[in-house]
Amino acid sequence: MLFRGSLFGVSMKAEGIDHVELRVSHYELSVRFYNRILLPLGFKKVHIKGETVTCYVKGRSSLGIRPVKKRKSIRNISYSYKRAGIHHVAISVGARREVDEFYRLLLAEKIKVLYPPRKYSRYGRWYYSVFFLDPDGIDLEVLCWNMPRAD
Ligand SMILES: [Zn+2]
Repeated sequence: MLFRGSLFGVSMKAEGIDHVELRVSHYELSVRFYNRILLPLGFKKVHIKGETVTCYVKGRSSLGIRPVKKRKSIRNISYSYKRAGIHHVAISVGARREVDEFYRLLLAEKIKVLYPPRKYSRYGRWYYSVFFLDPDGIDLEVLCWNMPRAD
């Protein structure tokens, strides 16, 4: 049965995904990495008092970076997109040329590219994206849904 957002008489409707937070093996290294890719895209860095976390905020959504817990048994469990957990995190831009520009940034910063920019029409008619990896091997994507414009 579908409840369509009203179970007990109060209407509910999600605004969207608000934030995602990632645990990283080497916090300072990862913060430098995310600075290099997210600040040029217009994200603002926010720190939360009393917590070791760096949040990158853009509009109503944010990506948070937290160090792994220091316990050795946990620290040595490395990330794999094949296990349960985050598969990839995607950031959208408005124009295809911005995906290409971002790709040039990845190359200039010597960031590991998983798949260079290309169309994925199975996701959407104009869907165009580049995949790359963070220092823990977490798969990230920058994509555009829009028809390419001549400008
Ligand atoms: Zn994706």
